[in-house]
Amino acid sequence: MLVSNLGYPRIGEKRELKWLLEAYWEGKLAQEAFWQEVFSLEENNWRRQLKLGVELLPVGDFSLYDHVLDLAFALDLIPQRFEFLRGRGGLELYFALARGAEGVKACALKKWFNTNYHYIVPEWEKEPRLVTNPYLEAFQRARQALGVNGKPVLVGPFTFVKLSRGYRDWREALESLLPPYVALLEQLAEAGAEWVQLDEPALVLDLEREEVEAVERTYRQLAEKSRVKIMLQTYFGSLSCYPEVMRLPVAGVGLDLVSDARHNLANLEHYGFPKDKVLGAGVVDGRNVWRTDPKRALELVRYLSGFVSPDRLWLQPSCSLLHLPVTVAGEERLPPELKNALSFADERLQELRMLKEALTRGEETVRAEIEEASRARQALDAMPGRVVPDVRRRVGVLGEEEFTRSVPFEERQKLQAEKLKLPLLPTTTIGSFPQTSALRTVRARFRRGEISKQEYRDFIRQEIARWIKIQEEIGLDVLVHGEFERSDMVEYFAAKLPGFALTANGWVQSYGSRCVKPPILYGDVWRRESLTVAETSYAQSLTTRPVKGILTGPVTMIKWSFVREDLEEEQIAYQIALALRDEIAELEREGIGIIQVDEPAFREALPLKRRERPQYLLWAAQAFRLATSGVKPETQIHTHMCYADLEEVLSALEGMDPDVVSVEAARGGAELVKQLERHGFRRGIGLGVFDVHSPYLPQEEEMERFLSRVLDLFPPDRLWVNPDCGLKTRKEEEAVEALRRMVAVARRLRAKL
Ligand code: GLN
Ligand code: ZN
Repeated sequence: MLVSNLGYPRIGEKRELKWLLEAYWEGKLAQEAFWQEVFSLEENNWRRQLKLGVELLPVGDFSLYDHVLDLAFALDLIPQRFEFLRGRGGLELYFALARGAEGVKACALKKWFNTNYHYIVPEWEKEPRLVTNPYLEAFQRARQALGVNGKPVLVGPFTFVKLSRGYRDWREALESLLPPYVALLEQLAEAGAEWVQLDEPALVLDLEREEVEAVERTYRQLAEKSRVKIMLQTYFGSLSCYPEVMRLPVAGVGLDLVSDARHNLANLEHYGFPKDKVLGAGVVDGRNVWRTDPKRALELVRYLSGFVSPDRLWLQPSCSLLHLPVTVAGEERLPPELKNALSFADERLQELRMLKEALTRGEETVRAEIEEASRARQALDAMPGRVVPDVRRRVGVLGEEEFTRSVPFEERQKLQAEKLKLPLLPTTTIGSFPQTSALRTVRARFRRGEISKQEYRDFIRQEIARWIKIQEEIGLDVLVHGEFERSDMVEYFAAKLPGFALTANGWVQSYGSRCVKPPILYGDVWRRESLTVAETSYAQSLTTRPVKGILTGPVTMIKWSFVREDLEEEQIAYQIALALRDEIAELEREGIGIIQVDEPAFREALPLKRRERPQYLLWAAQAFRLATSGVKPETQIHTHMCYADLEEVLSALEGMDPDVVSVEAARGGAELVKQLERHGFRRGIGLGVFDVHSPYLPQEEEMERFLSRVLDLFPPDRLWVNPDCGLKTRKEEEAVEALRRMVAVARRLRAKL
């Protein structure tokens, strides 16, 4: 029985990789020194894992930016537009694909399955061919530095094709990957690698017959043509084609036995596990932070022993530990009961080691550890705030009327038009304005206790006032306060709501050097104090134009946090929704007539398997209605979602019963409008007319062309004009100029209507 790991957080305990990357990009670190530091971080990550008991060390999972990009790069999938950079060396070309270069757009970023990690989408403009082998290099580094025979980890061919774009036909693409993969594996075998882990999370998606057959063909050939042992690793759910995969001539199959374990276990029970393979048993959670229940985990492994002999059983996390912070050590500000009940990456590995000890040398040898873990879990359950009877009661007695607005949309629309008196094609923004370095400095000083709460608040108020003027000057119709008090749209609310805790250092890589620090939702959520009323009504007091209140919705609060597992997400969503409902009621009392509840994570929270989607969409839409339906008919409710890829959630949009929806539409906006029409969507819609993530200013002609096209398809009294997301990350001058142009375009078009 071996303890194996699938991947380790690359970013480093103190976000070392982030600082190295940024120093290098800013030219403050020479290339040679950069490489040296990077390798030492990689080595440090290896040493930690070995010390924690990992026996099969993943290598090659470390990446300077993203593991999908690494593979695309090794396969020479460099889009033509970057070719001019070839002469400047690999590193520059690599970062250009990820981040763009002078006048050249970066490759797209997309969410990695249902996680909050973003990968770089490979673009196929030509046949892949193996030009470098970073996995071999990592393997050799590990051997040299530590004398360890590591297990190279890379994305498998099927998943790689699934995540790519630009090929003519996916079957051809998959076939064309065979020669480079064979070559890559052969080089590893040559160097002495025994095992290679090929990650195929795409095998947990719903698959067509034809896709399953292609997977079978590919792996037959790969296994036949290479001497190295293949661990076919799946995760993020249960394998969709269990019997077919078990018949493949690969040496091992890795299963996620945490998320959706039920189906994997049912298949195991029904089909058994082949005698000729290793089972990579994902028995501890790589996605969430709660300490493993050792008794249940031991039971699970004992059960597995009925199907596989111990020498063919690997204990591993359910997926790469990339999605967890590095360690709980140092989280001294958390309540002790909470801290003790958490496991981040390092603690997960300790759990695996403990399980192995218990199973190989007898439970007695780790009795104390097992008991400590059980005690910690019990202490968490008994923690103050874990169960708040009033909250439970309030959710328990919810009736249909709390989910329903008093008047249907068509009537509300008239009342709102009368009250708000907005022009056709009203202009607005999504909420946040640029956060200047002055603001960040003031916030940091406030956190360190160097300035008082009053001084901090005054500074925020100055910013709000300054931006109300700017917005009036630009001529926007619906203003916002600017979200200057929020460092992050989830963290800000989590800090104020009981039930959430914030870590000091729980960083997780989001993409490249960007990290997020997800709050931990451990208890019942309720509203103890106003969340946004002070800032919003202050903004409203400065202007006669309507100020739109901005809140973060229940799904996004859940999806961007680490969430308790003793309560259904649906129930948690209702708790958050009730807190928002109270906030919205207070905003309304304070004279705020338009309120936007952001749900950018609504789409990404969609379950990977189709069969699970209807249920999710139902409660997610209901939670939104619970938050927003208590208002008067003339109060206008908006929602915002980031991505235009909305096909699956369109029906849920209707179920959310908003008055106005704003979405990103910079790409394929007219297509989206057609979709909306097809679905009979009758609400107001704000199509993002420019891309807030682009460093280039939007051109008026472009915006005008886009809006005119949309106006051919959509009635002007339901169309709003806004950017596609918050302007937080832009420079102030850029944001102002972009908005000026947007307003000019809206006015010109309005005059023609
Ligand atoms: N209101 C938020 C903002 O403007 C929305 C952010 C988002 O959709 N990700 O920043
Ligand atoms: Zn957005």
